[in-house]
Amino acid sequence: MKVAIVNLGRIVSGDWRDPFAAGDTIITEGELIVSVGTASAAAVENADVVIDAGGMTAIPGLIDSHVHVTFGDYTPRQRTVGYLESYLHGGTTTAISASEVHVPGRPRDVEGVKALAVAAQRCFADYRPGGMKVIAGSVILEPGLQAADFTELAQKGVRLAKAGFGAVKTAYDYVPMVADAKAAGLITTCHTGGSSIPGSGAITGDHLLKMHPHVSFHINGGPTAMPDKDFERVIKESQIALQVCTAGNLRTTLWLWKLVKDAKQTDRFLIATDTPTGSGIMPLGMMYTITHLASLTDMPVETAIAAATGNNAVVYRLNCGFLKPGKDADVVLLDACVGGSKNNALDALRNGDIAAVGAVITDAIPRFVGRSRNTPAPNRKIRVAECRVPMDFSGVAH
Ligand SMILES: [Zn+2]
Repeated sequence: MKVAIVNLGRIVSGDWRDPFAAGDTIITEGELIVSVGTASAAAVENADVVIDAGGMTAIPGLIDSHVHVTFGDYTPRQRTVGYLESYLHGGTTTAISASEVHVPGRPRDVEGVKALAVAAQRCFADYRPGGMKVIAGSVILEPGLQAADFTELAQKGVRLAKAGFGAVKTAYDYVPMVADAKAAGLITTCHTGGSSIPGSGAITGDHLLKMHPHVSFHINGGPTAMPDKDFERVIKESQIALQVCTAGNLRTTLWLWKLVKDAKQTDRFLIATDTPTGSGIMPLGMMYTITHLASLTDMPVETAIAAATGNNAVVYRLNCGFLKPGKDADVVLLDACVGGSKNNALDALRNGDIAAVGAVITDAIPRFVGRSRNTPAPNRKIRVAECRVPMDFSGVAH
């Protein structure tokens, strides 16, 4: 399918160094973005679907790099179905598993954790709840996993490994396993802060520095933050990506931006939610953390959006996260909400408001156009101006 999005008011690129694209049109074809900015009249006329954005703002689909998926669009932790589709209505187009620890009776032996990771990866490889892409299958590091196990997992398509919930004596026992997982090409992640489930211990700055995973999960606390003094060490003494989560400690999220800005380490700042957890299901969680940072710190709103899109894509080696030619066609159209005091999406987010989601496109397919079921209505009118394929744009699964 070929889609043209015309009459955009602003295009946010997802790249904090070059955050805005000039022009008012995006063309997508197949599963990719073909052009961003300007397009010929012929390119628009040849599109199967033309969306008139009515002056709305385009951003890359949000990438939530901390979602506790299990199997299907179901969370046993909060006993809820359909939550991933709900997140899509909050602008999240990609969810990355933070490991399948919520699977009831989850295995803890070597064969079991490997099988769980492979099964999760397979079950989401082609399954798109509401249109959302889910990168699932994160092997939970347990004692006994060897270098050959990580090589086998990588060959089978598993991309992620997670330290933090294994039956280790101390968190330092993860050091050789993280090294082996990295050597096999896996992206390694580590729980940070106080324990979140019974039986697991706190993980603090020194543990992180010894392990040096790719990503410090919820460095602001999940939900309990590590000591303040450890933040500066992790920033200065490592290259670990610094993920902040909505379901964590807000004070340290806001403070981390000051540390990261002063250290000129913006690439390492990632936004995620860490849901569904004890904090619940948060379809607008990504947007809340963006607006918290953009309204309560001096982080530019376009940088906060990049932290929730392009920065995550680079660390997790994904082809989405940017509105640039050749990238995955995952596009979210935003506007200020009806009844708010601001008249466009970026001003609303700077003001501490969430933005209204007017449309979500993933893999170049419009999943809904008009109104999100989870945000207030947008100020501007968005419409499908042309449609030459048999589909509707209600976002209702048929
Ligand atoms: Zn988590």
